[in-house]
Amino acid sequence: MSEIVSARTAKAIRSERFFCRRRDTPALDSRPLAGHNASDTDAGDAGKKVRTMDEQRLRQFQKMAHDDPENELGHFSLGKLYYDEGRFSEAIPSFRRVTELNPQHSKSYHLLAACLERSGQRSEALAVLKRGYPVAAERGDVMPRDAMAEMLRAMGEAVALPTSKASAPGTHEAGASPTGFACSRCGRPSGRMPERPFRGPLGETVWAHTCAACWREWIGMGTKVINELGLQLASPRGQQVYDEHMREFLQLPG
Ligand SMILES: [Zn+2]
Repeated sequence: MSEIVSARTAKAIRSERFFCRRRDTPALDSRPLAGHNASDTDAGDAGKKVRTMDEQRLRQFQKMAHDDPENELGHFSLGKLYYDEGRFSEAIPSFRRVTELNPQHSKSYHLLAACLERSGQRSEALAVLKRGYPVAAERGDVMPRDAMAEMLRAMGEAVALPTSKASAPGTHEAGASPTGFACSRCGRPSGRMPERPFRGPLGETVWAHTCAACWREWIGMGTKVINELGLQLASPRGQQVYDEHMREFLQLPG
C-alpha cells in the first residue's frame, strides 16, 4: 500500500501546485516532528532500538545507491549514515563516488578526507583536501571550506586564502545578493527561476540559490527519493526527510 501512496505522492510532487497547497497548510508544518532522535540520547539497551532503525535506513540507502549508481544523493546519504555512526572506513567509497559523480560537491571532499584521516590514511586525506579545498573556496561553500582549511593547517600545510570569488556577492557567505545570483549546485550565474518554486522560508532559500535546471533535476531526484525511501509526505517525518535530501542535493547553505 505504501508503494501506491508513494507513487501517487511522487506524481503529485511533479506539480508545483501540490507543494504550494501543502505549504499553505500551517497545521502540517507546525506539528511537532516525530521524535526520531528521541532514543539517540539514551544509553545502554536503548542502543538496540537505534541500531534497528539505522539498519533499516542503511538498507534503504544501500538499495538506493545500488539501484541507481549514478545517483550522487544515494551515495552521499549512505556515506553520511556510515559517517554519523562512526563507521569511517565504510563511508570512504560512498563519498569518493560522490566526488566522482559531482566534482563540485565540496561537502563530500571534506567528509571523505575526515574518514580517510580517521582510518589512518593520512596522505590520502591530504590529497583529497588539496583537491577539495579549492572547490569549496571557489564555490564559496563556507562550512566545508573552513573545515578543510582547519584540517590542512592541522596537517602542517599552508592554506592559500580563498579566491576573491568566495567572498564576492552572490556566494553562500553573502547570501542572496541583489547584485548577483549563482546556483549553489552547479555554480551557474544564470537560469534563475522567475519565482520561488513553493512557499515558505525553504522555498525562498531554494529560489535564492538554485537555478531552474537544477530545480528540475531535483524534481526527478525527489521522486526517486520518495519511492526508494517509501516517504509519506503527508507525515511531518516524511516531509522532514524529503527536505533534508533536497537541501543536500541542491547544496543549499545553512
Ligand atoms: Zn544549477
